[in-house]
Amino acid sequence: MTGNETEMINIKPIGIIKSDYKTLDQVPVTGGNAQIEIFPEYKDGLLRIEENSHLWILMWFHQAGRDFLKVVPGKVNSTLPEYGVFSLHSAGRPNPIAMSLVRLERVEDNHVWVSGLDALDGTPVLDIKPYYEQEVVFSPSTPYIRPLKREMRQKIFMKQAMMHHQEQCAELLLGVRMALVADDYLGQLNTGGLKVTVNGPPCLADVLQGLSNARLANPPRFRYNETNELHQSIWEKDGSSLIITARRPIIKDEIAHADDRQLFSVEFK
Ligand SMILES: [Zn+2]
Repeated sequence: MTGNETEMINIKPIGIIKSDYKTLDQVPVTGGNAQIEIFPEYKDGLLRIEENSHLWILMWFHQAGRDFLKVVPGKVNSTLPEYGVFSLHSAGRPNPIAMSLVRLERVEDNHVWVSGLDALDGTPVLDIKPYYEQEVVFSPSTPYIRPLKREMRQKIFMKQAMMHHQEQCAELLLGVRMALVADDYLGQLNTGGLKVTVNGPPCLADVLQGLSNARLANPPRFRYNETNELHQSIWEKDGSSLIITARRPIIKDEIAHADDRQLFSVEFK
């Protein structure tokens, strides 16, 4: 590499995003459906891409600001403190390179359909890489960029639960609602001091493990007792315990419309 290359790098987009999102405030925080049009000269780079379920999409956020290094993640929560742009996924940064983890839906010729992409229509695409299972860190330490609105917290939990469990079953919907109640009382679910016990069917345990990132050991944060008689989660933190028990019966189509009191009995002590 010559000295010159460390000062200036030329990148040529390989494609462009086609989506319904024309302005920044239309883009959902958890992303949406989009089509990536790969320019014909790069089409061969898609060979066998359909063997992957998930992809990293690297893009150039051409409308984002590039002249600041600290920002408040205001779209999520305007009451949070400033963070450096390298500590966040904020769009604005010196080089507005964005990476979005998406689900690959289908490929036709030079068109790639994906879901979960948070980008505007017309965004240049720089690169596509497969998401490999060995890239997963199940329980990383992260700051809690807690969305101010409960509705946004629910959408993010829903996306996280689907990424983990991969099936939108009744227990997933119920688990997301339980996690939301636990977050109301105790805050961040992925934190060393919070222990989770699930008494219920395997799908509920899997969803709540995915949402709390609680491992069975090192440190032991997750316990599970399999039963079909109960849908219950117990959350323990700083000497307090929160017991959330679903009222019976659990009917998938009713979960979305029921409020917390209709779904659960909650005991906090
Ligand atoms: Zn399930």
